[in-house]
Amino acid sequence: MTKGRVSAREMLEACEYFESSQWRPQADLLDEQWLKLKSLLAWSYEHIPFYASRFRKVDVIPQKISSLEDFYRLPLMKRQDLVDAELNGLRVHSFPATSSHTTGTSGPSVTVWRDQSYDAKLTFPLWRRWLKAAGLQSHDRYLRLVTVPVGAARTLGRALDISMMTSVSTLIEKIESAKPNGIIMTPATLEYLSLELMERDRKAPKSLKNIFTNGDNLTLSGRRLCRQGFGCDPIDHYAARECSSGIAWQCSEVQGYHVNVENVVVEILDTQGRPVAPGEVGRVVITDLSSKPVPLIRYEIGDLASWQEGPCNCGRSLPCLASIDGRIVERMKLKSGEWLTCHVLNMAFGQIPSPLQYQVREDQPFNVTIDVVLPPKIESSEVLQLLKIELQKTVLSTIEWKLNPVDRIPGEIFGKRRLFHPYESAENQEPE
Ligand SMILES: [Zn+2]
Repeated sequence: MTKGRVSAREMLEACEYFESSQWRPQADLLDEQWLKLKSLLAWSYEHIPFYASRFRKVDVIPQKISSLEDFYRLPLMKRQDLVDAELNGLRVHSFPATSSHTTGTSGPSVTVWRDQSYDAKLTFPLWRRWLKAAGLQSHDRYLRLVTVPVGAARTLGRALDISMMTSVSTLIEKIESAKPNGIIMTPATLEYLSLELMERDRKAPKSLKNIFTNGDNLTLSGRRLCRQGFGCDPIDHYAARECSSGIAWQCSEVQGYHVNVENVVVEILDTQGRPVAPGEVGRVVITDLSSKPVPLIRYEIGDLASWQEGPCNCGRSLPCLASIDGRIVERMKLKSGEWLTCHVLNMAFGQIPSPLQYQVREDQPFNVTIDVVLPPKIESSEVLQLLKIELQKTVLSTIEWKLNPVDRIPGEIFGKRRLFHPYESAENQEPE
């Protein structure tokens, strides 16, 4: 078992390892990933009763695993398995770990257990690698917009926390006076502030080079609002509380999302459980190679994504996701039986010249309203007409629905945002 305390030297070594490994040949990276995976499977079989019985049921004995085909026979692990971890033999108390909870925005909140060394050996070095690849330099100043400031944790550059628990005017003034080179915030906050800057006719600080987003699904609309409000493209990071490190991230090329293959095995599966082809959207399944206190092996994380074909222009060898298409629960079953998804809406909203913020509501069963926030200084009737035409080309054509212009979508600035508010039926809660 790894000791909880990690020396500064070990942390530095981890930073150097991840810094150089992103440029190694992909075949070498995947070979190393395979060895780590086999080791995790053997360890889990030996120590975790939950996995020992599951492996035996499909006749997979880790010591005899010779290819990924064997690995793919292991059943998927669901969120409910994590919820029940204290009961089903997944959490073994003889292995020390710290616990935290997921936010519960994409299903029931679950407890997550971590080895205490993960922050220093994984989370920090991989976060640092992302910021660096995204364009942040060590002499840069960056702001973190947070609900509870925790002080300046040193990663790269000079970080300053700014509390969002203030008026929007004060927040904008604080951002301007701090003269940041970069700002990190959630996609929901980004959409909100972009609209506020436009409405107030304010410009982003001249010093600003990059916006970084983390913690939620960044939609195409969010990207476009950022370009309009802040004058730059957001650079996004994909993570999940359950995973011991970030999963994937964008570099300054702002193309696909480089997968942290040194610590995570990512699969994208169709509804039959088969791997999807590049460009095809499927369910994300992760195996966390460092998750020993409560191993995550073929865990269906509840997100949708697709693979990118070919490498990123930056030359890094880490394979790329083309897109993160939102959470599986972020969709709505229509009266016609069709599913309205984030992906469908992204495509329709992408056809409109003005960036728009939106949220889909179902106040009564099958009674669908799409709230839309229109940026200032645009011809609203023309835009709404165009939008209606584009949305009507989607599965929305199978039902009655209405478009509802609003000034703001409430409660959006403080962190997580839900694009869909389905009527709380059981059917809308269950992934396929
Ligand atoms: Zn890249």
